[in-house]
Amino acid sequence: MTPLLPNPDYYLHNLITMTSSESKRLWRRAIKEHFNCQCVYCGGTYELQQLTIDHVRPKCKGGRDIASNVVPSCRRCNQEKGSKNWLDWMRSTFGITDREHTILSHIR
Ligand SMILES: [Zn+2]
Repeated sequence: MTPLLPNPDYYLHNLITMTSSESKRLWRRAIKEHFNCQCVYCGGTYELQQLTIDHVRPKCKGGRDIASNVVPSCRRCNQEKGSKNWLDWMRSTFGITDREHTILSHIR
């Protein structure tokens, strides 16, 4: 299991990998593994390559490219959430679920 580090540069700094593209790949994989390959929004379990990385606070709204702002998401949820407020979108789509607490504890 790949350790989840704050951003791809940490894999380079800790000599876990030697290239920037590999560090980004590892980081993305670590995020998915950290959440047991589940989409944090719908709760579905997916293959690594079926999951995307979603910025909880969208980059276009100032969200950072850092572990505490990224979560695994299936393509469908990623697309439907878009740049909406994640909690508003999640509640209107799935109602109140335990998954919102999982996300809240990850992003704080
Ligand atoms: Zn989903």
